[in-house]
Amino acid sequence: MARRYEGHAIGIDLGTTYSCVAVWQEQHFRVEIIHNDQGNRTTPSCVAFSDTQRLIGDAAKNHAAMNPTNTVFDAKRLIGRRFSDPEIQNDMKFWPFKVTADTHDKPVIVVTYKGIEKQFSAEEISSMVLTKMREIAETYLGSPVKNAVVTVPAYFNDSQRRATRDAGKIAGLNIMRIINEPTAAALAYGLEKRTNCVGECNVFIFNLGGGTFDVSILTIKNNVFEVKATSGDTHLGGEDFDNKMVYHFVQELKLKKKVDISGNPKALRRLRTACERAKRVLSFAFDTTIEVDALYQGVDFCSSITRAKFEELNMNYFRKCMETVERCLIDAKMDKSCMHDVVLVGGSSRIPKVQQLLQDFFNGKNLCKNINPDEAVAYGAALQAALLSGKNKFLQNLVLLDVTPLSLGISIKGDLMSILIPRNTKIPSKKRKGYLTDLDYQKYCSISVFEGERIRASDNNLLGFFILSGLTPALRGHPLVVDFDIDADGILNVSAMDETSGCRNEITITKDKGLLSTQEIKRMIQEAEIYKVEDKQYLKKARALNALDDYVYKMKSAINDVETSSKLNTQDKMKINSAIVKARNLIDGNTKPEIAVIQDYLKEVEVLIEKSMGKFH
Ligand code: AMP
Repeated sequence: MARRYEGHAIGIDLGTTYSCVAVWQEQHFRVEIIHNDQGNRTTPSCVAFSDTQRLIGDAAKNHAAMNPTNTVFDAKRLIGRRFSDPEIQNDMKFWPFKVTADTHDKPVIVVTYKGIEKQFSAEEISSMVLTKMREIAETYLGSPVKNAVVTVPAYFNDSQRRATRDAGKIAGLNIMRIINEPTAAALAYGLEKRTNCVGECNVFIFNLGGGTFDVSILTIKNNVFEVKATSGDTHLGGEDFDNKMVYHFVQELKLKKKVDISGNPKALRRLRTACERAKRVLSFAFDTTIEVDALYQGVDFCSSITRAKFEELNMNYFRKCMETVERCLIDAKMDKSCMHDVVLVGGSSRIPKVQQLLQDFFNGKNLCKNINPDEAVAYGAALQAALLSGKNKFLQNLVLLDVTPLSLGISIKGDLMSILIPRNTKIPSKKRKGYLTDLDYQKYCSISVFEGERIRASDNNLLGFFILSGLTPALRGHPLVVDFDIDADGILNVSAMDETSGCRNEITITKDKGLLSTQEIKRMIQEAEIYKVEDKQYLKKARALNALDDYVYKMKSAINDVETSSKLNTQDKMKINSAIVKARNLIDGNTKPEIAVIQDYLKEVEVLIEKSMGKFH
């Protein structure tokens, strides 16, 4: 029985480059993709900090060229990772904003906000994007939204999932569930398809987005969506293709114009924006031009690129995608000929070469393009949110069976990986395994939990460790049990027990694992509130200043108007002129007046004007 959640439940696709929010509309039996304040159905996952305000979404992206070092994007590439991770080290070369490490090797984003240096975790930046998505939904629905299903790439590991959940908490959201992006897309696809499906329908979901790539094989039978296997790369997507193009033009500039822009964040940011645009054009045209005025030291940049060149630059990435496709089929123990449909998801799946390679791989099969690749994930997440909240009567019998993307286990003697939950096991799942002590009269043992496919445990990703103490005094070979419990979000809990002594312990994910403690989340929630208040204050002040500016403009026009002016005596004219000067000082001066001062002055001027020439607005 689904749990009842208060109010609306939304689905959020928290993307590397763009995010999307959707809601199930029970009265219309359909999912609504919600447009933002700019009328766009996707919102850049971007946050900018300026001297006066914080911007999120389109406004932040537009601000990027002006203030690149304080405009943060790609938080999804940082989330749940260590600073020393070689992929992060490589990404940093392309980021105009500063990233450092805290004492626990957790990445910290450093920006200047209102003239003061501030540090943010990737969870905090992601929480700001989630807050924006929530607000977009609230504006559309006209009521507060608390509950959400958030999607993550299927190949996200345990730390990345937990960190995404933490971001949701900081944003004040109740994360009902974290679901895999390809699974969400399959839900969107399957909603219409399942009714025409006779028997079982095997679907291959190919999801290539801005920063991540994953594929899943699902079997849809009546109301049951079962993931058979999933595979992917949390670090492959449109931004990598952009980077290749940026690098190509940086080299061209060095050669042809003898300038090196590689150390200039502003120039790089402007070139990157132009490259991303060109990349999109190359999905329908065979060549395109790139023009950036005064790119660097007053030098204009103008060049062109063909689709063939773009493909050549990125061929290694495209081939890597196909290897992942093959691996997933092997994992699912299915032949490509068994796939009824190959579904394209994610903005980068529009790239013609990617489509061609995929179609060739599936022996010329037509690719399914009838779901919007930018919206399918949020669509599926909204369906799942409605399902979990028990609001979706239309789909209430639908069952979603997902799998773990990586094997989970503990290290045993000889640094060997002992797997308790193999990869592609259906979740939620519980597994118990017995182990024996290695030493005589061993008092405690250390349990280290890993995820990954390597035989040597230390070659895998360490999720955490804990000590089981108080063991029964006994010769080596004393039995212990270890329990793995993976929930529907793909989040793992591990416990170990000596059944003879009754001693038990379970994993506590500590800060040194790079995750946030409860106190830190609390602090960040409080800070998020402060930022929200600041943003509101800024808006209020901007409105007050605009109202005054508007009024001053009208006053000026009025006294410049010959007819109106002729009705005023010299003294009134002088009073009005000095009121205009004072107002202009308030608006443009350096005094930074309080909102109340601006509002009071507007009232004062209104009274003055009314006295001398009657009411005007
Ligand atoms: P997503 O994460 O699914 O929102 O995908 C965003 C990525 O898709 C970005 O890197 C975009 O540049 C890329 N993208 C969007 N439209 C196109 C297109 N027509 N051709 C190539 N890439 C695209």
